[in-house]
Amino acid sequence: QHKRDSLMIVTNFANKRFQDNLRNDPSSRGIGYSYLRERGFSPETIDKFELGYASSKGDDIFAFGSQNGHTKELLVESGLVIQKDDRFYDRFRGRVTFPIHNLSGQPIAFGARILTNDKKQPKYLNSPESEIYHKSKVLYGIAQAKNTIRKEDNCYLVEGYTDVISMHQAGIENVVASSGTSLTKEQIKLIKRFSHNITVLYDGDAAGIKASLRGIDLILEQGLNVKIVRFPEGEDPDSYARKSGGFGFKDFLTSQAQDFIKFKISLLNQDAENDPVKKAEMIGDIVQTISQIPDAVKRTLYIKEASTLLEIDENILINEQNKVILNEK
Ligand code: ATP
Ligand code: MN
Ligand code: MN
Ligand code: MN
Repeated sequence: QHKRDSLMIVTNFANKRFQDNLRNDPSSRGIGYSYLRERGFSPETIDKFELGYASSKGDDIFAFGSQNGHTKELLVESGLVIQKDDRFYDRFRGRVTFPIHNLSGQPIAFGARILTNDKKQPKYLNSPESEIYHKSKVLYGIAQAKNTIRKEDNCYLVEGYTDVISMHQAGIENVVASSGTSLTKEQIKLIKRFSHNITVLYDGDAAGIKASLRGIDLILEQGLNVKIVRFPEGEDPDSYARKSGGFGFKDFLTSQAQDFIKFKISLLNQDAENDPVKKAEMIGDIVQTISQIPDAVKRTLYIKEASTLLEIDENILINEQNKVILNEK
């Protein structure tokens, strides 16, 4: 318990330092702040999400942390500092920082982005796992979103930090990201405490579609309802929200949200329309997805809908589903 407290304290200390650096670090001449402003984040948004800047000096957190009584061991254990032989240096250098908060709003880890599009460095770095940060159990933005998720009875799920932040700026606060990992069961259970409805807004690229398909099954398995919004190729919620402005974006989301079954069937029609073998495979896949739903009544209703949309006899789908269910027992 003492260890956890110390980790919380040092992470909070670093978060304050990064926030302070964003405006005052002399070595950066304000490049972190300009980067965020140029991306379209307002000063209020920057404060709300406690965005910061990790100095490019290389030992800012190590030196200032040590000065403030944080031990080397603690700095290393928090992931803020890396030890190589007997040398210590900061993990995050010359990057804007996105603190990841726990449910009650205390910082427990960081994501950090380079300011360029230099492909030689990883775009984002994240804190490693620690006693206070288990990435599979955390959702970025949950502290800022939880009340609105409950009120709207819906949670938007996005890929990245900047998607969450841009959506807040567009007036949509019920949004979280599974940043740095693919969606987990624990993360869905966390959302389930506030709402049983999730709308997936993954990037408009092949990876985003693949992740949405995986997400759908996981979400249904936990007994939640799931809708999907597809973005144009190359767009993500951040880029699209900025293009369309607050009202336009809200309208886009509400008009484009498709129930998972419609989404899967439209993908099928797009990819396998004239190929019976592929089509049969994808129908099997749809049945497989429906059979993840724990509630038998809901399952039956989705089979009915699939039968109508696919123009395939309901009994054939029911038969397929029984096979899946038997196989899983
Ligand atoms: P940006 O708009 O700043 O370019 P993004 O959120 O659109 O960022 P994506 O490439 O879509 O970035 O990735 C989605 C999320 O995946 C990121 O927000 C980040 O959490 C994580 N991520 C991306 N690249 C990396 C990386 N190289 N290492 C670790 N995590 C990453
Ligand atoms: Mn992407
Ligand atoms: Mn993206
Ligand atoms: Mn992006």
